[in-house]
Amino acid sequence: MTNRRNILKGVAAAGALGTFGAGYADTVKKLAKGKWSGETPRNQHLTGNSVPPEFAIDPVTGDVTPNPDQAMSYTMCIGCTTMCGVRVRVDKTANKVLRVAGNPYSPMSTDPFIPYESSVAESFAAMAQAGKGQGLTSRSTACGRGNAVLEQVDNPRRVLQPLKRVGPRGSGKWQTISFDQLLEEVVEGGDLFGEGPVAGLREIRDLETPALEGAPEFGPRANHLVWMNCVDDGRDSFVLRWLKQSFGSNNFTRHGSYCGGAYRSGSGAMFGNFKSMPHAKPDFSNAEFIIFAGTAPGNAGNPFKRIGTLVAKARSDGDLSYVVVDPVLNHAQNGPSGERSRWLPIRPGTDGAMAMAMMRWIFENDRYDAGYLANPSKAAADAAGEASWSNATHLVITDPDHPRHGHCLRGSDLGLPIEGEAYSGADPFMVASPAGAVPAGAAAAPLFHEGMVETETGPVAVKTALTLLREEALSRDIADYATDCGIPEDKLIELAREFTSHGRKAAVSSHGGMMSGTGFYNAYALMMLNTLIGNLNWKGGTMIAGGGFPETKGPAYDLKSFPGAVKAKGLPFGRNVPYEKTSEYKAKKATGAAYPADGPWYPNAPGLATEWMSSLVNGYPYKAEALIFRNTNPVYGVPGVAHLVDKLKDPAVVPLIISIDPFINESSAISDYIVPDSVMYETWGFTKPWGGVATKATCARWPVIEPKMAQNAEGQRIGLETFLIGVAKRMGLPGFGDEAIPDAQGKMHPLNRAEDWYLRGAVNVAMTGEPVSDATDEDIELSNVARILDDLKATLKPSEWRKAATIYAKGGRYENIEHSYQGDRASHAFDAPMLVWNEQLGSFRRATTGTGLPGTPAWRAPEFADGTKVSDHYPREDWPIQIVSFKSPLQNSYSVGAKSLLRIVASNPVNVGRALAEAHGIKTGDMVRLTTPGGRLESVAVVRDGIAADTVAIEHGFGHRGFGAQDITIDGATLAADPRLAAGVLLNDIGMLDPTREKAGVWVDPVSGTAVRQGLPARIERI
Ligand code: SF4
Repeated sequence: MTNRRNILKGVAAAGALGTFGAGYADTVKKLAKGKWSGETPRNQHLTGNSVPPEFAIDPVTGDVTPNPDQAMSYTMCIGCTTMCGVRVRVDKTANKVLRVAGNPYSPMSTDPFIPYESSVAESFAAMAQAGKGQGLTSRSTACGRGNAVLEQVDNPRRVLQPLKRVGPRGSGKWQTISFDQLLEEVVEGGDLFGEGPVAGLREIRDLETPALEGAPEFGPRANHLVWMNCVDDGRDSFVLRWLKQSFGSNNFTRHGSYCGGAYRSGSGAMFGNFKSMPHAKPDFSNAEFIIFAGTAPGNAGNPFKRIGTLVAKARSDGDLSYVVVDPVLNHAQNGPSGERSRWLPIRPGTDGAMAMAMMRWIFENDRYDAGYLANPSKAAADAAGEASWSNATHLVITDPDHPRHGHCLRGSDLGLPIEGEAYSGADPFMVASPAGAVPAGAAAAPLFHEGMVETETGPVAVKTALTLLREEALSRDIADYATDCGIPEDKLIELAREFTSHGRKAAVSSHGGMMSGTGFYNAYALMMLNTLIGNLNWKGGTMIAGGGFPETKGPAYDLKSFPGAVKAKGLPFGRNVPYEKTSEYKAKKATGAAYPADGPWYPNAPGLATEWMSSLVNGYPYKAEALIFRNTNPVYGVPGVAHLVDKLKDPAVVPLIISIDPFINESSAISDYIVPDSVMYETWGFTKPWGGVATKATCARWPVIEPKMAQNAEGQRIGLETFLIGVAKRMGLPGFGDEAIPDAQGKMHPLNRAEDWYLRGAVNVAMTGEPVSDATDEDIELSNVARILDDLKATLKPSEWRKAATIYAKGGRYENIEHSYQGDRASHAFDAPMLVWNEQLGSFRRATTGTGLPGTPAWRAPEFADGTKVSDHYPREDWPIQIVSFKSPLQNSYSVGAKSLLRIVASNPVNVGRALAEAHGIKTGDMVRLTTPGGRLESVAVVRDGIAADTVAIEHGFGHRGFGAQDITIDGATLAADPRLAAGVLLNDIGMLDPTREKAGVWVDPVSGTAVRQGLPARIERI
């Protein structure tokens, strides 16, 4: 099949691009007439039939006159993980969200954002008129997706009542049940589906019986309840209280391992914390040069909207120029900004080769910041006027036979007297000196050293961390790195030179593009470039997020502790702990062969949803009896998981699956029960920015419209909180009910409904540090906090409710912008060393091989779990191309239900570069088949510039089977599939299992355990 007709025809089989044509015409019509136009536009020149404005401002007096028919409230968008502060216009009579824009108090939506002291009326005025000659420079915006996803509130496919499956799992047939029936069945269990007995949550919550007989390290049977979450949308504190402290299960994970986890893990290695994985972002407004690797400003990532705004300003008004290194050119390259934005194509998954090549040149040409790196401690850095420090000078034990091989040399190794435990914080790191190894002190230390040190157990070989990094970088020629990454040698050198030509005002940024087979080391290497120029905590360099105002443990209430709280214990289900802690290891060691383990373990990783899918279907390390999916979709999101899903549909594998979700997505579709949940502007929560904001910021979300879900007997809307409170009360779990929340005076308060929790959280946010001022009656009226006024007054103390009202009236709490810097430094500085050598990494042994890995950044070709090279299994000759995924700023994995987005981008044809297309005789509009070792898909090709050689790119967010892409039958009535929602293809469908794993599991990065979707080996053919 050839020609453009196939673009329409090929995808129109699923109804996609055909819709585009019609939808686009509709869009044009609406543009001409105004979005809310009927056939006859009103007689207004510019706005047509758009909704009347929410308020008017007298240009002379500045007086605000609200529109009495509309409410305008500051809350949060959850159209993506950025979770921006937004303002929502609501038709009061229809309880309908009309439009969404930005919250001018929020840095996520506004630059510069207005002072927090501004009244709500002043905030309205600030957005409308920035002053003479300033136009709308203080406008505050939502992105295109943020404007569209409000449609999800009224989506006819929402789950509004509890559902129970009818027939086999995944058959798409459901019945509605009452809230009481839901609680009874999931708590008490029984023969729930006519398929035999199912243990209920009451039985599973056994805090005595071991989760695995003979392996006490896994904790009690209560751990058989496992909980999969998406992102923390500001409600996770509530979930974790219920799951860990009340129910007693230790098994909770989020979606990071199949989102941007490899980047976060690589960054965590350098920042010295593999669990919380700190990361820094460039100071976009003040940097002079930024390398964006695998991510593009304003295209995707987090916080993409803010980054887009700041970068656009900096490249036009400031000094910024940048290079986007990515297999796919997207709209980050901006013609009018000329040389200030460039694209550099790279072979998928080879960012580490690029970074190590740059490092080699940097070392060989002395372009690293020696003065910065020579500081072995905070005291030395302070004395030298530095804003951070590293362990570049610390000595590392390199003797392979030494029991502490890969660890940093400490005072106790030499028998120095220490106050405290060996290898604790009191045990000094050692550096080289003319007199031998000495404790790291307040003076600079040698950067490069290798030699022997006399220890208590004899002489031992050591090298400094920077010596090891240099050796690693110099282990290959730049030409070899160039061959691997596809970037010519001269370009690599040019990049290294430019990066090291701006002092501290240069930075490397990355995020989700690191999800390859070597994503962890790629990210660690990229981030290490920042450390080599010492840019952390400097204006124009890199900065961590400013943090937030805590809601759970504050000056007013303690939402974290309560009488009878359980301490959940046991090694986690995802095996993100050392294998050496297990009984399996001990048993195997006793036989003389401790390695390989029965499956991979990832001690240097956080919770891993990717590995949970393997754990679930294999019952390794133990079996799960109940699984809760909360607003998450691993069945769609994990590459290669399609190979495991059928097993998950077997109730014998996991007997009880409950989803808490507003929609029937690909994962909730295979559950036994679905608990309805709130959407967007109906829901509560507190979040803080992940990064890219230098000031403290807590965004508050609250129901600015009446939620649509059915009510329970007490009149509460059924959702996450109602469900968990209901289960807790039925089971008599601690931490819920009338005596659940202690205040600062020790008096107990109830937790019987969501408001009991979130309103008290708002008081904590308001009272932290210098308390916020009380909301005025005008603030409350203008922001429509009046909607929850009765709840505020009934729940909180007289001295508190106006403080909480301020938090909701302003959509959160935001530190003023002038607190971003102290002089040339970040006000909220990261205060621990950058690890040039990470000893946790450098000393661990892979459970599946028994071998180690470098403790510094490194470039290695991708490997499977058994240590064999992926290319040995799938050689280039047979699999000559590589597939990558990319995101647009509009669509993500859960926005497909917003049909106005589908009118703009209706599907995702396969993007093929010109040279590759020519080699295969492919033209735009042809149908092509992509084959990987994991499967095949067929789609329409679009031939375009801006794709790296031998690479095919697929946009993420399409190819759905959930959200209405398939028929759903509820109570015998069938809601037919909407082909528009099924349009396009999903790269994850051709993701791979790791063929070397005995117990089936998807291909993951060996250190971070994160999914692989960048650089899948593949073939392409025209059909
Ligand atoms: S970036 Fe857009 S979709 Fe994401 S939270 Fe912000 S406004 Fe919503």
